[in-house]
Amino acid sequence: MHVVVIGTGPAGITAAETLRRLDPHGSVTALSAEPFPPYSPVALADHLLTGREGPLFWKGQDAARRLGIEERRGAVVRGVDTDNREVVLDDGARLAYEGLVVASGSRLHAPLEGADLPGILDFKSLSTARSLLARVRSQECRTALVVGNGFIGVELSLLLADLGVDTTIVGRRSWLMPRALDRETSAIAEAAVRARGVTLRLGVEATAFIGNPANGVRLADGSALTADLVLAATGVKPHIGHLADSAIQTDWGVLVDDSLRTSAPGVVAAGDVAVTRDYMTGERYVHAIFHNAVRQAPIAAANLLGAQLTYEGAEAMNSLKHLGVPIVAVGSTDNPDAVLRWGDGQQLRSVYLRDGRITGAQLAGNIRSIGIYRSLMRRRIDVSPFGHRLVEPRFGLADLLFDVLP
Ligand SMILES: Cc1cc2nc3c(=O)[nH]c(=O)nc-3n(C[C@H](O)[C@H](O)[C@H](O)COP(=O)(O)OP(=O)(O)OC[C@H]3O[C@@H](n4cnc5c(N)ncnc54)[C@H](O)[C@@H]3O)c2cc1C
Repeated sequence: MHVVVIGTGPAGITAAETLRRLDPHGSVTALSAEPFPPYSPVALADHLLTGREGPLFWKGQDAARRLGIEERRGAVVRGVDTDNREVVLDDGARLAYEGLVVASGSRLHAPLEGADLPGILDFKSLSTARSLLARVRSQECRTALVVGNGFIGVELSLLLADLGVDTTIVGRRSWLMPRALDRETSAIAEAAVRARGVTLRLGVEATAFIGNPANGVRLADGSALTADLVLAATGVKPHIGHLADSAIQTDWGVLVDDSLRTSAPGVVAAGDVAVTRDYMTGERYVHAIFHNAVRQAPIAAANLLGAQLTYEGAEAMNSLKHLGVPIVAVGSTDNPDAVLRWGDGQQLRSVYLRDGRITGAQLAGNIRSIGIYRSLMRRRIDVSPFGHRLVEPRFGLADLLFDVLP
């Protein structure tokens, strides 16, 4: 089969690799809007700080040649003609496909007045990250405002602080990474972020970017904050503009069934662009993390070739890489009927339960047990026999062998 893959991010390149492996006589054309080999955004901060290329170009800079994929860089898809099975590029060229993988990922979502002002930087792609670094290195930038207190905002702020920029985070919610961390775990992250010299303005709503080029934000109380650099880390939105006139149904992202097929024949989707089912809650939303992208891509690719694989559902999982204190969160903290906690000032373990089953877990300081919690959660095992022992540091595999498994 001849397959076109839109995107060479983690989902796109993994899908392309799978297609070549499962269908060695077929052909794959992988398109990227950017001028780079396939890269992983997870390694952007490390790359900017250290210059290391290995983790960034995680499949190797020669991935396409090695895998036998025709790779086209700087090939921006403008539309998909699902009736004639053709992809339309920005320059008007049309590429025929028998199968199509939509893996166009996500972009910055900044629902704030003035978000289109020149000079607002983001940390969503290698192109934007490099222009950010160029601005910092130009020496004209000594102060930065990061709007958004989620994971990317925190990671970006730590990077800027490490580069010697006096950085302030402005966030609407009153604690860091509120969608992923509970207040107690977040307090540990907050102390670490402050210790790195980042100023936090939390519980403060930025209503608009100001200046032209942008040099600050207006706050809900009418006051303003200004800085040499203004960065938006306000969330992400799937890249779906190019699917507008096609038979591929979308809402926030591309709608897929549990086999990751879209509404258009011969078209699958994977990664940050796809609205997938959460395996715990059953809710459908975009789970914009690496792990889900590379788990979905092989299933989508195999199903495009005729397999009948079912995707088990996406997982909410976050970890902080550059904080100095390891922190990891899995699952959800919504509507628990019990929360177990253990902490000693250095470590904190929190487990969220509903009907005796784990719905979420957060670890800070020492994250070794996350695999056990995750496994208990995924298998929906009744953990009530453990009581509070579940969060104590000595809890381990041996407890499981004797107490739970038959
Ligand atoms: C700074 C940062 C740090 C992160 N850290 C973590 C982390 O620690 N852990 C974690 O799990 N996740 C992390 N993530 C999220 C993770 O990187 C994403 O979930 C993952 O990259 C999704 O892969 P993807 O292939 O679906 O999309 P993307 O990586 O966004 O790739 C999309 C691809 O589509 C191409 N494209 C888009 N539109 C078009 C078009 N119209 N035509 C042609 N090509 C197009 C792009 O050029 C790109 O090649 C981080 C993200 C960022 C930005």
